Amino acid sequence: MQYGTRKAWQGITDTRKLTGQMKHTDNELVDAATAIRENAYAPFSNFCVGAALETDDGEIISGCNVESASYGLTVCAERVAIWKAISQGKRKIKHIAVVADTEELTPPCGVCRQIIWEFGGDIPVIMANLNGKSETVQMSELLPRAFDTKFLKK
Ligand SMILES: [Zn+2]
Repeated sequence: MQYGTRKAWQGITDTRKLTGQMKHTDNELVDAATAIRENAYAPFSNFCVGAALETDDGEIISGCNVESASYGLTVCAERVAIWKAISQGKRKIKHIAVVADTEELTPPCGVCRQIIWEFGGDIPVIMANLNGKSETVQMSELLPRAFDTKFLKK
């Protein structure tokens, strides 16, 4: 399937699916993120982003960024996808893809890194652009020494 100007996806080896850890490939997440990116509401920055995650029960849930005239209220695509997942009763994500139209692949912002860690921990994050370029990094690389619930336990 083609979305916008994105070239045919080249396909990356996803051994996690082959070993049964995940139901969906990274490519499927990138496709879902690319598709929902078309719905991004970004009239102020024109920076459209899509994100898609797989929940621990194998569902793909996606989201796009939503801006506001009150700029500080803007919410990133990653958090929109995660809020959707949480509101559907999901509590754990297994991997997440982020797609933007940038030559240098766009990583999640600092706020999103914290939220991804909250519900995914050290999961793979697939960054991709519309030209078929992608890179997968672990959350522990994006957010070393993360703060999480283990610090709150008595
Ligand atoms: Zn963000």
